[in-house]
Amino acid sequence: MPDIEVPVLIVGGSLVGMSTAMLLGHHGIKSLVVEHHRGTAIHPRAAMITQRTMEVLRTVGIERIVMRASEQQFVQDGAIMALESLAGKEISYFIANLNEGVRDISPSLRLFITQSLLEPLLKARAEELGADLRFSTEMVSFEEDRDGVTATIRHRDTGQMHTIRARHMIACDGARSKVRDQLGIKMLGHGIFSKSITIYFRGDVAPLLRGRNLSVMYVVNPTLSGFFRIEKPFNSGFLAVHWLGDPKNPVTDVSEGLTDQRALEYLRCGLGNDQIPVTIENVMHWDARADTAERFQRGRIFLAGDAAHVMPPSGGFGGNTGVQDAHNIAWKLAMVLKGQAGPDLLSTYEVERRPAAAFTVEQAYSRYVMRSAPYLKSENMQPIENDLNVEFGYIYDSRGIVKEAAAKEAAGREAGKPTHENPRDSHGRPGTRAPHVWLIRDGRELSTLDLFDRNFTLLAGPEGEAWCTAARAASKRLGLAIDSHRIGDSGIADPSGTFLAQYGLAPSGAVLVRPDGFVAWRARTGEAASAEELSSALASILCIDAARRSA
Ligand SMILES: Cc1cc2nc3c(=O)[nH]c(=O)nc-3n(C[C@H](O)[C@H](O)[C@H](O)COP(=O)(O)OP(=O)(O)OC[C@H]3O[C@@H](n4cnc5c(N)ncnc54)[C@H](O)[C@@H]3O)c2cc1C
Repeated sequence: MPDIEVPVLIVGGSLVGMSTAMLLGHHGIKSLVVEHHRGTAIHPRAAMITQRTMEVLRTVGIERIVMRASEQQFVQDGAIMALESLAGKEISYFIANLNEGVRDISPSLRLFITQSLLEPLLKARAEELGADLRFSTEMVSFEEDRDGVTATIRHRDTGQMHTIRARHMIACDGARSKVRDQLGIKMLGHGIFSKSITIYFRGDVAPLLRGRNLSVMYVVNPTLSGFFRIEKPFNSGFLAVHWLGDPKNPVTDVSEGLTDQRALEYLRCGLGNDQIPVTIENVMHWDARADTAERFQRGRIFLAGDAAHVMPPSGGFGGNTGVQDAHNIAWKLAMVLKGQAGPDLLSTYEVERRPAAAFTVEQAYSRYVMRSAPYLKSENMQPIENDLNVEFGYIYDSRGIVKEAAAKEAAGREAGKPTHENPRDSHGRPGTRAPHVWLIRDGRELSTLDLFDRNFTLLAGPEGEAWCTAARAASKRLGLAIDSHRIGDSGIADPSGTFLAQYGLAPSGAVLVRPDGFVAWRARTGEAASAEELSSALASILCIDAARRSA
């Protein structure tokens, strides 16, 4: 007999494990998280949070809390640039203002907040939503069978062991995932290209910033290549160092034989100043690599976050990609566990997330080569895509999406399927993130995205009442809540008048949006509006068998 039974066991309670627990809780699913460390992250590590991740935090009600915490910690809307040293010559700006030119795409903004500040906020929300969080606890073994996973966990201080029985397990146990190893899943990609270090320091470096509003400062000079992040009030931060010496023949093992004195020399070189008193608080050693797991699922076990994909920090995509994994798997597990969807829905997790993650890994690698390591061969490097394409533009192509006839034909014609695009070009096409449009309800502004929550949501044009009626009937037929809204009628106004164009609809058309905010199905007009049509689309998306479809 197991000591504890729980629907979902999460191994690893850092950024991605905690996000997964929070999102499962949002969907009403209990999870148990085991985390080796005594508490949430103590090192800052990830800080750049994409608009898409902020949209996820908005859904679970903590966007504003996170924004306030970020304002305390970092300058907002800073630049990302390269310079010879903090005090030295500026080389180039990669991004002049973090949110310039992207405010129209989302109700949320990009910001910086360290993992050490963000994780307690995720933890608090996960606990409110019912997650059972066990720190100082490690998973020591697991076995999977037809019906679930049995795992043994051990408290690090007391040595007390417990047996856990879960229907599913999610491995959020990081880049060196033991779960992944035990499942025999390989990592594929560029491998390790640097033994990097992060030097955490204290010291009043404000004079070196010279009033510039900087979020990330890449440093490239004859001694080293790396990057700085400095926290308010500009008296603490870190310097990550990727390689040393001659860029044509660099030393990429920065970690081996590192002494306190050497670390201080690197820091002083990056600062371009040896007068300001600085103290080193800590040095972290980590591998810069760009790899994606060959599988994201084996049976009832899923990989998420760094366990599934590891990328260099250039671009700030690593943790964000993991949050999107969590967002993708949470609603699917919830619907399967509640009996609202067939188990095959879970296989769409890998089909959707692996290409999106692999693309992001390549984009991070390309940024690493271009910004920090031009000595790496660039033949097997993807051209750099616009950040928005990486953050929002990945396209899902799985059973969880009903493709349109035109898209099916196009896919058949093309040798390689597109995996991403500019999100401004997707216009509500199934498989893409549902666009953001500002609306007004009861005199208050809200985004289309605020209408997507735990259920599938039908958004119809102002003359799309037939689809709303069909949604109510389909909901009864499938025993599944469907939210439906007509946009542009008196209930929800479309003050910019752009909703129909943004979603590619005629006034009588409708789209069906999944709980993760991706368009699952679309009828451009009301011609085919019927409960049968919508039920059949939903049943296909949710992998519901024929018997239940016709019930
Ligand atoms: C210098 C630096 C800067 C970065 N900047 C950014 C950025 O700006 N934006 C961004 O998105 N990403 C960034 N990243 C990447 C980001 O830090 C990672 O992608 C993110 O931490 C991955 O989170 P995770 O939860 O998947 O894995 P991890 O953070 O590695 O967490 C895994 C957890 O699992 C636990 N664990 C492992 N095995 C067990 C076990 N058997 N039992 C119990 N617990 C276990 C570990 O203790 C650990 O806490 C940066 C990384 C670095 C190094």
